[in-house]
Amino acid sequence: MVRMKRVQAVVDRRKPEWLKVKLPGGITFSRVKNLVAGGGLHTVCESAHCPNIGECWSRQTATFMLMGDTCTRNCRFCAVPGGPVAPLDADEPRRVAQAVQELGLHYAVITSVTRDDLADGGASHFARTIQEIRRARPSCQVEVLIPDFQGRRDALQTVIDAGPDVLNHNVETVPRLYALARPQADYQRSLHLLKEAHAQGAKTKSGLMVGLGEDSEEVLQVMHDLYRNGCRMLTIGQYLQPSKRHLPVARYVPPKEFDELKRSGLRLGFAHIEAGPLVRSSYHAEQQWAALAKRAPRQSEPVLSRGQPALARDERTIIGR
Ligand code: SF4
Repeated sequence: MVRMKRVQAVVDRRKPEWLKVKLPGGITFSRVKNLVAGGGLHTVCESAHCPNIGECWSRQTATFMLMGDTCTRNCRFCAVPGGPVAPLDADEPRRVAQAVQELGLHYAVITSVTRDDLADGGASHFARTIQEIRRARPSCQVEVLIPDFQGRRDALQTVIDAGPDVLNHNVETVPRLYALARPQADYQRSLHLLKEAHAQGAKTKSGLMVGLGEDSEEVLQVMHDLYRNGCRMLTIGQYLQPSKRHLPVARYVPPKEFDELKRSGLRLGFAHIEAGPLVRSSYHAEQQWAALAKRAPRQSEPVLSRGQPALARDERTIIGR
C-alpha cells in the first residue's frame, strides 16, 4: 500500500540526504553551457533550477526551452518567471537544431514557456523546431513537452502533424491543487489533450510532482486518469520550492514511496514510469522512449471512455497493493 500522508501541520523543511546532489562542473558540463549560451538558447535545466543539471549536462543531454525565458502564466511551483514576453525569434528552431547536432544527441527533448499571447500558443514554433532537427540530425528522436495551448485543438494538431516521437504534457499535480499551484491550467483540459494526441497515434507521456500536499489516493487517481486517457509513460518527482515566493514543500516523499508508486503504475499498465525524488519530466527520457518502443503494441489499446467509474474498488486494491 502506498503510504503518502496528507499535509502535516509542521513540516521539517530541511532537505533530506536523498535530495543532495553534487555541484555541477567538468569539461562536458562546460561544453554544454557554452553551446547553450553561444547559441542564444534557453534550457529548462537552468531556468527551472533543475537539480539534475550536473548529471545531465555531464552526460551531454539538455532540455531546450523555446520562446524565451519568461512565461505568460504564474504557476506557483515553477521557477520560470512570469512577465513580459519577447517576440518570437524566428531563427531559434534552426539554432536549437544546430545545438542538437553539435551535441550529437540521439534523443532531444524540447519544451517551452507558456505563450498564451500567441494565436497558436507557439505550436508552429514547436513544429518548425521538430522539422529543423529532422533536417540537421535525421537519426535523432524528438520529444516535445508542450503546454496546453489553452485547449486549442488546431494548435495541438500542428504539433502532432510535425511528427514528434513522443508528445509529453504534464498534469503536474492532482486536480484539487490546481487552483493553488497552477490557477490558469485545467486538469480536464490536460487530460483531453493527451487523449486527443493518443487517439491520433502519438506516443504520449505526462508527469507530476509530489510533496505539494496531495495524498496517495489522489496520486493513484491521477495515474488512473492518465492511463485511461492513453498516456503510457509517466514521470513522478519531488516538488522543490524554487524560492520563498513559491509554494512551500508540504512533505519530502521518501524514495521507497516512489518505488511503490512506480510498481502501482506498472501494474496499471504504464509502459514506463520514472519515479524518484530527483526525477523530472525529461530525466532519462531516452531510456523511457526505449521502454515504450519495446512495448509499442500497448499504445494502440483503446482509451477507456470518460463515463467509466473513476477508480473502482478492485482497481484500488490492485494499484494500492
Ligand atoms: S532532468 Fe531534464 S531539465 Fe533536469 S537537467 Fe536533466 S535534462 Fe535538464
